[in-house]
This record gives sequence, structure tokens and C-alpha cells, in this order.
Amino acid sequence: MVQGLLRIGFWSVAYLAVATLPLAIALLGQVPSGRGFLLELGSGLGLVGFAMLVVQFVSTSRFRWVAPYFGTDAQIQFHRATGIMVLAFVVAHPLVLWISNPQYLEYLDPRANLPRALFLTAATVALVLLVVLPLWRISLGLSYEWWRITHGGLALVVILVGVAHGLQVGHYISGITNQILWVTGGGVAVLLLLKTRLWKPWQVRKRPWRVADVRSIAQDVSQVVLDPDGHEGLAFRAGQYAWLTIGNTPFALQQHPFSFVSSDRAGSRLEFGIKETGDFTATIKDLRPGERAYLEGPYGRFTLDPAAAGAVFVVGGIGATPAISILRSCRDRGDQRPMRLIYANNHLEDIAFRDVLEQLASDMNLSVVHVLESPPPDWQGATGRVTPELLARHLADCSKQDWQYFVCGPAPMMDAVERALLEQGVPLWRLVSERFDLV
Ligand SMILES: Cc1cc2nc3c(=O)[nH]c(=O)nc-3n(C[C@H](O)[C@H](O)[C@H](O)COP(=O)(O)OP(=O)(O)OC[C@H]3O[C@@H](n4cnc5c(N)ncnc54)[C@H](O)[C@@H]3O)c2cc1C
Repeated sequence: MVQGLLRIGFWSVAYLAVATLPLAIALLGQVPSGRGFLLELGSGLGLVGFAMLVVQFVSTSRFRWVAPYFGTDAQIQFHRATGIMVLAFVVAHPLVLWISNPQYLEYLDPRANLPRALFLTAATVALVLLVVLPLWRISLGLSYEWWRITHGGLALVVILVGVAHGLQVGHYISGITNQILWVTGGGVAVLLLLKTRLWKPWQVRKRPWRVADVRSIAQDVSQVVLDPDGHEGLAFRAGQYAWLTIGNTPFALQQHPFSFVSSDRAGSRLEFGIKETGDFTATIKDLRPGERAYLEGPYGRFTLDPAAAGAVFVVGGIGATPAISILRSCRDRGDQRPMRLIYANNHLEDIAFRDVLEQLASDMNLSVVHVLESPPPDWQGATGRVTPELLARHLADCSKQDWQYFVCGPAPMMDAVERALLEQGVPLWRLVSERFDLV
């Protein structure tokens, strides 16, 4: 617990330090005097907003060393929450300046300076779109791939205009050192974007994979087996995931994350369980052995703590995949810690890995509770949804302090289960969640 709190404290302080770094740097240069509180506040909001914007690029740049600290889920939640804060700071920046001195309105006046007005307006609109598009993407009918491209493009516009605006205005960024630091901040952000979108695919192009087998394992769920093609494979920790691209180039628009379902001790052959939810996943069942694929990873922190006394998995639908990988790996290691899996599905035919789980339950100290929302008439198991009562009933003998709790499934189920587990005494640092719908 202390370790968890220390970690949260450390990263909160680190974030605050980075966000306020431009203020410290600004004070190192020439500080104009007598500008008044509101003017200074307005400038400060802009400087801090810019630094927070740079951190936005760091939080989505797929650094492997970040994963053990935060996990993908926390990273995405953080990116979303801080994105809203960036918008608030950046919008407050001109508002406070205009209140302090209406003359600043001329920054948006095309008669005063057309390119400046256009770029600042474009960057503001881009920033608003960056924050609201993820919320409305589905209702607007924007595909994930086009949203991802748009998100990168808009982010690039905002950061480049931010750098140019800071240099052009010059307050606090007039000295050469401050100018270099300012441009470096923007440069780091652009490089991180290029790293994720170009450098990473460039690296994985030398390590192709071949489809070895594809078969249906449940309603709309396919098992895909990949073999490394001319390399030794990919080492991962059970519960992690990789970004999958199908086809002859890793630079394809379609790059999707999927959890490994194989044991992390199973050798170089990798297995995935993929549910048909949209245009990319609909093509999976038609893959043919021999087709080329690329994997970028591993990523994620949905992994078992070696010090945990036991583990509970509350999963729904295709959210079972990382749990299967963890359980298979524990079986292969001879891990005899007690484990419990509550697995929710709509119908009997939706249960993927039913046979796999039966085998695992006989091989290790695992008990499985299947919960069906629409069961067949002869169903003997639990029915309905995963309610707090169901959790309390099936997890009564599981230590809340010493066991680790994993949650993965549809978002509404995850929200309800996380809330219930916390209310039933599971500490936050014992809870590990993975959300499959990033946006
Ligand atoms: C860490 C992680 C692990 C995952 N593991 C699995 C798994 O083991 N098995 C499995 O079937 N699915 C898994 N998913 C979900 C899978 O990535 C999406 O279902 C898939 O990308 C949908 O693509 P689509 O084009 O077929 O559907 P779309 O119609 O494009 O999207 C359907 C929904 O899937 C989500 N989605 C779409 N594309 C992506 C993407 N590139 N990245 C993240 N989310 C996306 C969106 O929220 C969207 O609403 C995982 C997701 C994450 C984030």
C-alpha cells in the first residue's frame, strides 16, 4: 500500500514539476516588471498549458518502461483527463489576457495580422476537436482509424502553432536559452509522434509473422495463431498485448491492439482470441495460413504480481483473453496459488475458451464461475449480470488485501465491477483493469 501511494505521489509531483517547468524557466530570463497580476496570470496559463500539451505526447508514445508503472488503462484515462485540463488552460490563457487588456483581442483580428489570426484560430479549433472528437467519434460515424489519423494531425497543428506563437509573442521566451528550451519542448512532442507513427512500424518491418492457423472458437470469435518468420519471436509477460497489423507492410492504417492468450512459456508461437466488432476484426476469420502480419509490443500492465497470495479475474466476453494467458502461464509454471475466474457472457455460444478453462481448472487451483445473461433453459450456473451480490457471494473467501483483482470486459460491466470491488474492501492498488475500447 505504501509503495502504491508513494508511486502515485512521485508521479503527481513529477507531472506538476514538468507542467510548471516553463514558469521556472521564464523566471530565469528577463522578467518584465509592472505588468499586473491578470497579465502575468494569463501568460502563466499559456506557458503551463504548453508544457501540459507536450506531456500529452509523452503519455501516448508507447514507452515500454511506462507500462510497469501505469498500465494502458491508466495511461489512457490520464491522457483524456489531462487533455481536458490542457484545453481549459489554453482557452483560459487568451480569456484572462483579454480581461486584463482588451487590446489582446487583436491576436485574433485578421486585419491586424491575417496569418497569425488564422493559425491561432485553427489551433484553438484543433484543440477543441482533439478533446471532443473522442467523445463523439461513434455518433459522428468516424472510424477508429480515421479518428487516429485526425488526432495525430490535429495534435501536430496545435503543438506547431504553440511553438510559433510562444516565439512570436516573446514575453518570457525572448532570451536565446528560453527560445531553445521552448523549441526543444515542441520538438520532443513532434519526435514522439513520429516515433509512434513511423519509427515503431519501421522497426517491426524486420520482424514479420506468418498466420499459422485461424479457427472459430465461439460466436464471432476467432483464434489466430502466429509464427515468427525468420526471427526468434517476441517475449512478453502473461496479460500483456501487442499491436497487430495484417498484410505486407507494418505502415498500414489498420493497427489494432490484442492481448496474447498463449502462455508466456509456450515458445515462439503466439495465439490471440479476436472478436468481430468492426471492419478490421470482421476480416480476421478470412485470414489464410501463410499470410503476413506484424506485431508491435509487448505493452500493458495487466500482469500478475508474483507476491499476490491469489488472484480473482472478473471478465466479460472477449475480455477473458488476458486472463487466459495469465492462467495458462501459471499452470505452466506449476503456480499453485488459489485463483477464481468470474466469466460473464450473454449466451452459451458466446463463451470462448470453455474447454480451455475446464482443463485449467483441473490442472491448477482454479475455480470458474460462468455467468450468462440469457441462458438456455437447462443452464445450471449463475444467471443475469455480474452484480455486487454475485461478487460478494463468490468472492467471500478471497482475501481483499493479499489477492490481486483483475477486471476486463465491456465498459459498463467494468465500471460496475470496479465500484463493487472497491466497496467490498479491495484496495485500489490491488485492482488491475484493462479497457478494450480505447476511444
Ligand atoms: C489493450 C487492449 C487489448 C485488447 N485485446 C483484445 C483481444 O484480446 N481480443 C479482441 O477481440 N479485442 C481486443 N481489444 C479490442 C480490439 O483492439 C478492438 O476490438 C479492435 O481494434 C476493433 O477494431 P475494428 O476495426 O474491428 O472495429 P471498429 O469498428 O473500428 O471499432 C469497434 C470498437 O473497438 C475499439 N477500437 C477500434 N479500433 C481500435 C484500436 N485500434 N485500438 C483500440 N480500440 C479500438 C473502438 O472503441 C470501437 O468503438 C483490445 C483492446 C485493447 C485496448
